[in-house]
Amino acid sequence: MTETPGNKVLWLEFLKIFTRALVQINLYRPDHPQVKQALQDGEALLRRIHSENSGDFSLTMAAGSLLANGLPLITTDKLPNSIKNLFARFRVQTITFVQGAAGSDLLALCQMQAHKGDGAAFLRERGITKITLNVDVYAKVDPSAAQAPNLPAADETTGTAAPAPQAPAAPEERIAEQIYTQGLETALSTVVSRATENPEERKAIMDLLTAKFKEQLATEVERAVETVRREKKKVENDMVRTESVMTSMAEGVVVVDKNGNILVMNPQAEAISGKPLAELSGKKISDLHQSENHVISLAKQLSSEDKADVSNEIVKTGSAELAETVKKATAVIQNEDGKIVGSVSIPTDVVKLKQMEQLQKDFIANMTHELRSPLTSIKAALEILGHEASKPGDPSRSILNTAIRNTERLNSIITDILDFSKLQSGKLIFHQENTPADEITREAVESMKAWATSKGVALSARTELQIPYVYADKRRTVQVLINLISNAIKFTPQGGSIEVSADAGRDALANFVFFSVRDTGCGIKKEDQSKIFEKFVQIASGEKVGGTGLGLAITKAMVIMQGGKITLDSEPGRGSTFRVSLPVYKGQIDQPVFEQVTASAPEDKSWWKKLIGI
Ligand code: ADP
Repeated sequence: MTETPGNKVLWLEFLKIFTRALVQINLYRPDHPQVKQALQDGEALLRRIHSENSGDFSLTMAAGSLLANGLPLITTDKLPNSIKNLFARFRVQTITFVQGAAGSDLLALCQMQAHKGDGAAFLRERGITKITLNVDVYAKVDPSAAQAPNLPAADETTGTAAPAPQAPAAPEERIAEQIYTQGLETALSTVVSRATENPEERKAIMDLLTAKFKEQLATEVERAVETVRREKKKVENDMVRTESVMTSMAEGVVVVDKNGNILVMNPQAEAISGKPLAELSGKKISDLHQSENHVISLAKQLSSEDKADVSNEIVKTGSAELAETVKKATAVIQNEDGKIVGSVSIPTDVVKLKQMEQLQKDFIANMTHELRSPLTSIKAALEILGHEASKPGDPSRSILNTAIRNTERLNSIITDILDFSKLQSGKLIFHQENTPADEITREAVESMKAWATSKGVALSARTELQIPYVYADKRRTVQVLINLISNAIKFTPQGGSIEVSADAGRDALANFVFFSVRDTGCGIKKEDQSKIFEKFVQIASGEKVGGTGLGLAITKAMVIMQGGKITLDSEPGRGSTFRVSLPVYKGQIDQPVFEQVTASAPEDKSWWKKLIGI
């Protein structure tokens, strides 16, 4: 093999990259960009060396030099420790990089340095065949060449390696055996004693060697320390950056480990909690309160250590928008193996969202209210005009009737939206009192009669004799029945019938009165029956009937808030029966009932609840 200057440059370059990879694998994970880069460069260099050598490439440690393909490349004293250690620790004399050796093979070789056992076995177990280790010296070298670092010992004119030295004499081999077990100082003096008989000269050589050794050691230590220092600085800079980001964030940030123990809080989070991190650090966030909430459910999900679980719905309380925000503002922290070890939450987003939600609700409530007043005047004016357009065949009369019907429709949509926003903001008040059930039924039916007749649907009321009084807000309960009857009219074709009834139920349910609205309309499929009580849900039907999809959501809320229940029994094509139960009046104290949100607004919320805005 010829050692051309080009070869040597490549070999030394490879040595540099290999050293870098050995050092970096100790500092970083294999997928760290710096490690990846070193391995890639190493692979590329090996490819070039192999193609220029047209054969394998070997590095051999012998006679104080590192030989590349049997030719002296660099003296051992100039070699970086990581390379020297690799050879010394595993008693390796030659490392051969077989053609086709890749970055992944190089990675295994670098990882081997941390291994405690047999190096060759380590590589074998990982299926590495393109890098081999052996104890055979590739070629012996002229000791004088080895002592002249960086000088090629090959004969450039013939392209052959320098003549191999004679086999070491037996006494030298004994020296090697001798010093193998000796400490450094003794080993040195053994070698020096062979160099000269003169004790003064021996001492001078020893002093010189010791001084050189110390100097070399100091340089190596300084170099190693410098690398560590640089890494430390980098880590410190990263920490400072992270800290300043955390500190300058407007939101409170809390980092918890996988068990929900607090690890880090920024000053904003400390302000919200009212306690410093020093006091809360390591405390279990879930121990601070018992009830179900975002953070607890999050911590619970984290402890399952299953990634899939974490992406599930986190929230059991609060609106859907809040749930989404909590989910989005929560990042899961994983360790190197992909296990979940904690999470970072930026919860105050939710507080803002809640404020915005409230603004939105207030806006809708005010706006719908404002819309209603002019509409009422328009309707009244149209009705007066209708009375005055006397002749039955007069076309202006039918135009007026259409306009009146449209104002009524608009009015009912506004009523729905207004009720719904009142419900959401907790401003819907109920005045429950002793109320005759038959009156409720009659009033609801009477107000819907005209519409049913105009649609060709028979609407009748039936009430049991001596039906007990109910404990209900009369106006709201009439509205409940009107909602159900208007749906029945909408979904019952001409010629059909609707029966509204009130009964006292069976004996077992004697404490309730049951209002039923039974129609012979299109009916509702089983899979849609629970959905229709959700807000904004409208099930597609053949004809377009209008509405907001809020009617049943409001109806259900109004029933439940009065201590009742609503059920549905329906079959497609055979009609539907909505059944509303309300408590019988048993002398309850009449008092207004507020929607839950206003009734329970305790001010002593725990800090973390404030933090996540619930
Ligand atoms: P809307 O105000 O738009 O009518 P609702 O909440 O009152 O909304 O009703 C939701 C959906 O439930 C309707 O779109 C309809 O598909 C279905 N529905 C309600 N009542 C009946 C009924 N009596 N017969 C058939 N479908 C009904």
